[in-house]
Amino acid sequence: MAEEISEKLPFISYGRQSIDQDDVDAVSRVLFSDWLTTGPKVTEFEEKIAAFVGARFGVAVNSGTAALHAAMYALGIGPGDEVIVPAMTFAATANAVVYQGGRPVFVDVEAETLLISSADVERLISARTKAIVAVDYAGQPCDYEALRAIADLHGLALVADGCHSLGASENGNPVGTLADMTVFSFHPVKHITTGEGGMIVSDNEEFAAKMQRFRNHGISTDHFKRQKEGTWHYEMVELGFNYRISDILCALGISQLQKLPGWLARRRAIAERYDLEFQDHTAVTPLSVRSGVEHAYHLYVVQLAKGVSREKVFRDMRQAGIGVNVHYVPVHMHPFYRNNFGTAPGLCPVAEEAYERVLSLPMHQGLSDDDVQRVTRALWEALK
Ligand SMILES: *Cc1c(COP(=O)(O)O)cnc(C)c1O
Repeated sequence: MAEEISEKLPFISYGRQSIDQDDVDAVSRVLFSDWLTTGPKVTEFEEKIAAFVGARFGVAVNSGTAALHAAMYALGIGPGDEVIVPAMTFAATANAVVYQGGRPVFVDVEAETLLISSADVERLISARTKAIVAVDYAGQPCDYEALRAIADLHGLALVADGCHSLGASENGNPVGTLADMTVFSFHPVKHITTGEGGMIVSDNEEFAAKMQRFRNHGISTDHFKRQKEGTWHYEMVELGFNYRISDILCALGISQLQKLPGWLARRRAIAERYDLEFQDHTAVTPLSVRSGVEHAYHLYVVQLAKGVSREKVFRDMRQAGIGVNVHYVPVHMHPFYRNNFGTAPGLCPVAEEAYERVLSLPMHQGLSDDDVQRVTRALWEALK
């Protein structure tokens, strides 16, 4: 009987895009225009995201992963270099270091926030360390003040993986201004989407120029030279990739960006409802939010008390049509890293323990108050 009922209720996914007719129209206009790719919508999207987050430059690419790769390239990461990366993230954060031949050094996270532990970062710095990549897990900015101090003291670059935190801020300073480079993703589960897409924002002109070449095979577009040597002339000055994003996708991104402030407000309102629901319970503890932080709530993550079977809660909620999820398998636990970098359980104990207890509840702007109530009811039911 219970199953019959749950089948009639729509499935509530943990994250989901919102697309309206304005988005469709914006994409259609580009389809009938002269530029499907490498045209004006790419530049417009870059400028609008950069302006939104308060950065000077934006470089759009075709995924958040490509954006991370471009950032590692701009820093000149190569064989022999180490980059400090938190264990509690999506694998792409570390993979980007490996693409460049570097070694990701996994750092543990703080138990209450699952954000990179600054104290542990300091312990892991070696003569080979070139950069720190901080991940704004769930949508809350890391302690960039502390990270900046460490980076400056040791002459390291600081990169923010802001794939969860577009629209977040720390003491009034937006994500996008808190590191040397900040990376965003426009995958459908993220705040705004281009289907697939990503961007790096930075105030550093040299980094931006490097990444513009990197996404386009390493080809320089030196207009002065072209004029002198003929308009056909171009030079491939370094090895790059085709990481370009199309105007079709950027038109969608521009249209989505207009709605982002309202969506952020809705995500925060949903988080407040969840917070209220869980405030007097010991079985379910939401992650702590640092003071001075404006959270972007890509995810709403709770930690289940020890002794609660996450497995059962997960299964029961999925059965009830609630798309809970688990973010993330600590990256150093993946076979690829164990086999190629010798990582093993015990390397980042806080992340490993959290992994056993975390649960991501549905969080996106399309959820109604009734949906949120369905989620919490299903959770209490599963905990019985
Ligand atoms: C989504 C995500 C990425 C990768 O973005 P894609 O656009 O899917 O390539 C990288 N890091 C984190 C933390 C993410 O959440």
